[in-house]
Amino acid sequence: MVDQKNWHAHYPDEIPATITYDEKPLDSFLALTADQFPEKKALHFMGKEMTFAEVYSQAKKLAGYLQSLGLDKGDRVAIMLPNCPQAVISYYGALLAGAVVVQTNPLYKERELEYQLNDSGAAFIVCLDILLPRVTNVRGNTQLKHTIVTGIKDYLPFPKNLIYPFIQKKEYNMVVKVEQSEDIHVWQSVIENAHEQYTPADVNPKDDLALLQYTGGTTGHPKGVMLTHYNLVANVQMCQKWLYKTKPGEEKILGVLPFFHVYGMTTVMNMSIMYGFEMILMPKFDAEDVLKTIQKQKPTMFPGAPTIYVGLLNHPNLKKYDLSSIEACISGSAPLPLEVQQQFEKVTNGNLVEGYGLTESSPVTHANFIWSKRVNGSIGVPWPDTDAKVFLETGEETEVGEIGEIAVKGPQVMKGYWNNQDETDNVLKDGWLFTGDIGYMDEDGYFYIVDRKKNMIIAGGYNIYPREVEEVLYENEAVQEAVVAGVPDPYRGETVKAYVVLKPGHQVEEEALNAFCRNHLAAFKVPRIYEFRDELPKTAVGKVLRRQLIDEEKETNNQT
Ligand code: AMP
Repeated sequence: MVDQKNWHAHYPDEIPATITYDEKPLDSFLALTADQFPEKKALHFMGKEMTFAEVYSQAKKLAGYLQSLGLDKGDRVAIMLPNCPQAVISYYGALLAGAVVVQTNPLYKERELEYQLNDSGAAFIVCLDILLPRVTNVRGNTQLKHTIVTGIKDYLPFPKNLIYPFIQKKEYNMVVKVEQSEDIHVWQSVIENAHEQYTPADVNPKDDLALLQYTGGTTGHPKGVMLTHYNLVANVQMCQKWLYKTKPGEEKILGVLPFFHVYGMTTVMNMSIMYGFEMILMPKFDAEDVLKTIQKQKPTMFPGAPTIYVGLLNHPNLKKYDLSSIEACISGSAPLPLEVQQQFEKVTNGNLVEGYGLTESSPVTHANFIWSKRVNGSIGVPWPDTDAKVFLETGEETEVGEIGEIAVKGPQVMKGYWNNQDETDNVLKDGWLFTGDIGYMDEDGYFYIVDRKKNMIIAGGYNIYPREVEEVLYENEAVQEAVVAGVPDPYRGETVKAYVVLKPGHQVEEEALNAFCRNHLAAFKVPRIYEFRDELPKTAVGKVLRRQLIDEEKETNNQT
């Protein structure tokens, strides 16, 4: 039997194996931080700055306003915003009022939005002005009662606020004018006119939900992950211990990861609010914009995903920018290629390590140490108070090095899926969350992801894990990005297809790439089809949409 606690032997002295977590509502930390650092910058957004006292004041106003509209404890408030000050204020305002936040991806089209609003039963939504038509189109089919509308320009400094509507018109072909009515509320007038009075909700942090976070999870069907205040607070407190060199009130975090995804929400937004860090908000990823912002704003921390780091490293003007302020980065959400890690550390002088997590665990459960032993290719070791095991399909625990499904247990693990006991029972067993990720643990207690259960390709009876093939492709010097998927094949059931984006200025023939793969992989794993693309479809946190590629392939096959 494996000694599951072995990993603690590697913890540096500064990181405790166990932590006493604050049993307080997540929003109560905004009050504490505003009290401790009232005049410190809480956020920077396209030239606009706000202090913690200002963010707290506006969140209280929103809380009071929502309550005046009839919001009761436990009601769901949807937020459909990119990273901007309103995203932070609405999230904390809704929590102060006792609501449960439902994060909604601003890229959602009507069908996805309607599903999520109906499933969560949200009665309130805060949305960006250009998204209002989408909300209006679905409102009648949902339980929505009130829509609060805000625009990017609402928080831009003069004269950017005057120019922005013209940019918006050009970029989105839209002129936005929102009229206040009984059920449409204009953000600016709420913030200007509301009082800071609200009635604090009586929240039980361990039981009451702070968040319904929608995810495909292991089955792909969107489900609302129920995360309590305690789940979220615990994960941020673990994060702070992991990053023990950071000092409250002194760090700056780059907020490129969207806050409507749990990863950016925990590691940037909630981390900043709980520890008085300044967050630099970027509403969308534009490599040159990010490089410029790093040089100018000098963030010290930069949580991200591999595709974000890849995008920066391959920017033609990379060398023009000074990125030396960056000290600590955790990369999650997809495997971090070694090449990318090494190159990024070279250009920043900081440390970039791989971590792992999922929406169902708030999200982080594993990471490599930032300032001590790291193991390349591994997701690291479990975080404090987090247990992890690997199970065979028979339900037995694996031996060291044996591949199975990774399961985790800890204070960050969700309560379950909203209104979905069957799916909850499929993944939560005796407090263990079955992640759907296939991997193993080595004898030192470091964990490795082989792949996601549902990504496994079965070609001619052989099991092939795309990640292994992708790693080989990344080693080719012409390859910038690669994703491998199983596409339908009349003889082999599925066959291995590689989608490849080349580095600017590089060329490689299909035959040469194929020969390269043959040199490094068993024949049955070598892609049979290669497709070269200018870019790959990705999620908001930069994860490649493998499913979309497979669906495209199926559609093409059906047409021929
Ligand atoms: P999400 O719920 O959107 O955060 O997605 C969680 C999933 O992302 C996990 O179940 C993994 O499949 C994947 N993931 C997260 N971190 C890593 C990593 N370091 N390496 C490989 N896959 C990862």
